[in-house]
Amino acid sequence: MLLILKKTVKKEELERLKENLRSEGYLIREIEGVEGPILGIVGNSYRETAYYEALPGVEKAVPVSKPYKLVSRELHPSPSLIRIGDVAIGGDRLVVIAGPCGVEERKRTLEIARTVRKHGAVLFRAGAFKPRTSPYAFQGLGEEGLKILREVREETGLGIVTEITSPSQADLMMKYVDVVQVGARNMQNFELLKCVGRLGKPVLLKRGLSATIEEWLMSAEYVLSEGNDRVILCERGIRTFERYTRNTLDLTAVPVIKKLTHLPIVVDPSHATGIREKVSPMARAAIAAGADGLLVEVHTEPDKALSDGPQSLYPEQFEQLMRDLYVIAPVVGKQLDYLYLDKAALMRPKENRGGAPATVVYSGDPGSFSHKASLQFFGTEVPIENCPSFREVFERVNAEQAAFGIVPLENSLTGSIHENYDLLLEFDLKIVGELTLRIKHNLLGIESASLDTVERVYSHPQGFKQCREFLEAHPEWELVTCRDTASAVRRVKEANDPREAAIAAEEAGEVYRMSVLKAGVETNPRNFTRFVVITRNGLLPGPRNKSSLIYSVSDKPGALFETLKIFAENKINLVKLESRPIHSRPWEYLFYADLEADVADGGKKHILEELVKRTEFFKFLGSYQKGAGASH
Ligand code: PEP
Ligand code: MN
Repeated sequence: MLLILKKTVKKEELERLKENLRSEGYLIREIEGVEGPILGIVGNSYRETAYYEALPGVEKAVPVSKPYKLVSRELHPSPSLIRIGDVAIGGDRLVVIAGPCGVEERKRTLEIARTVRKHGAVLFRAGAFKPRTSPYAFQGLGEEGLKILREVREETGLGIVTEITSPSQADLMMKYVDVVQVGARNMQNFELLKCVGRLGKPVLLKRGLSATIEEWLMSAEYVLSEGNDRVILCERGIRTFERYTRNTLDLTAVPVIKKLTHLPIVVDPSHATGIREKVSPMARAAIAAGADGLLVEVHTEPDKALSDGPQSLYPEQFEQLMRDLYVIAPVVGKQLDYLYLDKAALMRPKENRGGAPATVVYSGDPGSFSHKASLQFFGTEVPIENCPSFREVFERVNAEQAAFGIVPLENSLTGSIHENYDLLLEFDLKIVGELTLRIKHNLLGIESASLDTVERVYSHPQGFKQCREFLEAHPEWELVTCRDTASAVRRVKEANDPREAAIAAEEAGEVYRMSVLKAGVETNPRNFTRFVVITRNGLLPGPRNKSSLIYSVSDKPGALFETLKIFAENKINLVKLESRPIHSRPWEYLFYADLEADVADGGKKHILEELVKRTEFFKFLGSYQKGAGASH
């Protein structure tokens, strides 16, 4: 039952209400509703709604229609993020869990772990207790295997996912493991579900071989009802009449699960198909369908694997799959971050960040594209703050009030954001990272609005530019510019008028619970914005393969050519060259260049020296890892 509370409810009144309900045997969850606080109450039975509506502080009681309560979206409208050390499942960064089917020999297990970590996996999977169809098949190494897994974590930093097959293994799981997996064959082993509910460790709950989605969610409900909210669902294929593949991967489950529950879902294409060649296509499809991550079996010598060799990817295949996901992820509003674990380690409170607090700043309101870029680059574990202007982002980073700032530099449809190019010149900060974000705009309005009621539209000027064709079809609409797209949504929300609408991200619509009047209104769906991460003294880990420079040349024939020749002679690909007027010197220009190389690298220092000689003004903006996506 959902109890929508009166807006005027006082803290003491709320506490008394909760105490009363608890004494009646209900489990209570507080929900942050946009219109005010809501209590979700779960118990064996419920009274008429009128009973709850008569309680002090309660405005309205609404029964939860589904048999599962704690896992239902009705009780918890926003998606849950499940944290495992530095990793969070359910956000904008894909979580790839990889490893062999079972823990085998120590050396080989460590070798597989290093390989999957190198290619971007953030958690390691391997069973020490294997539930096998045949009693004569390899049953796992037991505690010996868990000790090897502990070594994997110590050496690689990868969190460990392993299967529990009996409540008697609970203590071992507590000692060695980060996520306990409940296998398909145990999905309805209710004693085991209650046991992992009490363990308190995150649970990866596989879908049963012939379980309906509702049965699967009821199993998750068992775990949550024991007080453990950290459940990750895993679709691993179901038994159908089709025998070509080991199981039939039910990818429909991904959007269905996303609608029914707040819990994250990962997909296991390995057990779903049972055939190595089918794993990568289904993995790509799973991410396109909206899965939060994958669980994939990988082995360095699958032919020698003691279980599930035929479905285990070779390291090269896993590497290729990750490269594909790196490109696909931005299309569905996510990122595959190869530096996930290294970046997280660097952002932990005590690490060295040149003295600045581990805060990230962006310009705009929550729900803006810059906010989304910050979350995708740094994850949800880092404090992210907003400020009112790009200039302030630069100022705060410069004053070391924040370790990093994130600003947009150019858009694939509308070109450069010149203000930020000018600020890069003015401030002495370095670019240390890059991210490409797909920009999908929506026309958002209040619930009673529709395309026919709209008269006035709010957005950032870039938003208007990127939706030019859509807006040209509605010449009667008045366009009002705002500081950023999310603040445009806030204005429409506050006005509460069906004549007003905003162009912004879906996320901004969710922040303010707005209706989507029309989705995808950008002129071209290949609409990407390139953001850069700036810092004063902070460092980011990982390989650097791109550099940015600003320079001017003397006013004589061939001066620019002389600089370009340096790139050509050193076989460096120039990916962008843009000129900007020099303020106070009319008709003189600065060149902003992006190169596909780390020119600060020791071995390439001569290039920088050569450039300094051939230019009048020279500023090195930084070298960094090229971001994912479609821009170059
Ligand atoms: C496994 O993950 O190795 C496994 C046994 O999976 P499932 O329970 O999905 O068959
Ligand atoms: Mn397996």
